[in-house]
Amino acid sequence: MKQNLLDFEPDAMTAWFAEHGEKPFRAKQVLRWIYKSGESDFDAMSDLAKSLREKLKQIACVQAPTVMREETASDGTRKWLLDVGTGNAVETVYIPEEDRGTLCVSTQAGCALDCAFCSTGKQGFNRNLSTAEIIGQVWWANHQLGKNEDGNWPVTNVVLMGMGEPLLNFDSTVSALRLMLDDNAYGLSRRRVTVSTSGVVPAMDKLRDECPVALAISLHAPNDALRNMLVPINQKYPLRELMAACQRYLVKAPRDFVTFEYVMLAGVNDGVQQARELIDLVRDVPCKFNLIPFNPFPQAPYQRSEMEAVKRFRDVLMQADIVTTIRKVRGDDIAAACGQLAGQVLDKTKRTQRQVEAGR
Ligand code: SAH
Ligand code: SF4
Repeated sequence: MKQNLLDFEPDAMTAWFAEHGEKPFRAKQVLRWIYKSGESDFDAMSDLAKSLREKLKQIACVQAPTVMREETASDGTRKWLLDVGTGNAVETVYIPEEDRGTLCVSTQAGCALDCAFCSTGKQGFNRNLSTAEIIGQVWWANHQLGKNEDGNWPVTNVVLMGMGEPLLNFDSTVSALRLMLDDNAYGLSRRRVTVSTSGVVPAMDKLRDECPVALAISLHAPNDALRNMLVPINQKYPLRELMAACQRYLVKAPRDFVTFEYVMLAGVNDGVQQARELIDLVRDVPCKFNLIPFNPFPQAPYQRSEMEAVKRFRDVLMQADIVTTIRKVRGDDIAAACGQLAGQVLDKTKRTQRQVEAGR
């Protein structure tokens, strides 16, 4: 089988070229062709010797995941459904804003952590994505959208907030992060790349040591009793440990705060008293809050908080000098909003199963 070059972080690319008797600068040239020019055809890599191009054609390829479906929401949000084999699909969402383009990237097909309010969690875990499948989402989105008038790629920010828990697919995630950051690849600033985690404490330390980028924590509850229920991994890494890990992370982080994501569930975690409890909880962690209106999906056991409750909650945090934003709901008419990803694929599969069974 041909080697997919999207699977190599920069150092691995150099090592692979060396194995094939090629100098390190060749690896750099190829990286630049793939990521800076968006090129996948070796014939077009005009500054490589003809013999090297021929060799690469024989043994290598540049292969992003196959797109099964593409949708555009009324607000310009775009979603691609990517085939990752054996009937699995993951999603990538592009969110255009005035001053940036954010790509929300998936790291696993499904997720093992089973948070109570998350449609990905309800699917269970299927498998980890490879480096090529993770960085391939950025490659594909840039390729599809095309360069801006100023010659830059439209994806200026990446958030690992699609399907899956990035820190439970650590190696492939970090390799993909290194490609996002490397000057010969996308060259994004560490501040523009965000890993979102439900709180895998040991992997947070490892990320800080190996590839620090901006950090978002899916908090969702002010105490262990409620968080154990909403985010079951809290039973393993409770809030006290999570807060300490955030402090350790900030020592080496590119930003001087962590972002706490907090999905607003009506009558569950959206009360004023809970906002006050949060203030105590995060007292020693420099942070910002991002309140996320709950995005419903079929069979979801929760309801979105009233906007009034969300604003009241924000005001309590703001009065304690915690910068708090309310996330705009984007792309929900194509089920591309947080936590809705690939819910429809699951439904489809079930439907197909039913049809097959009915036809027997
Ligand atoms: N596994 C990682 C990253 C993917 S989830 C994590 O949990 O952080 C990305 C974000 O979407 C998380 O903050 C998650 O809590 C949130 N989310 C999940 N389901 C949601 C839903 N139905 N509505 C709104 N946000 C949701
Ligand atoms: Fe997994 Fe994140 Fe969904 Fe929890 S919220 S089930 S960690 S993807």
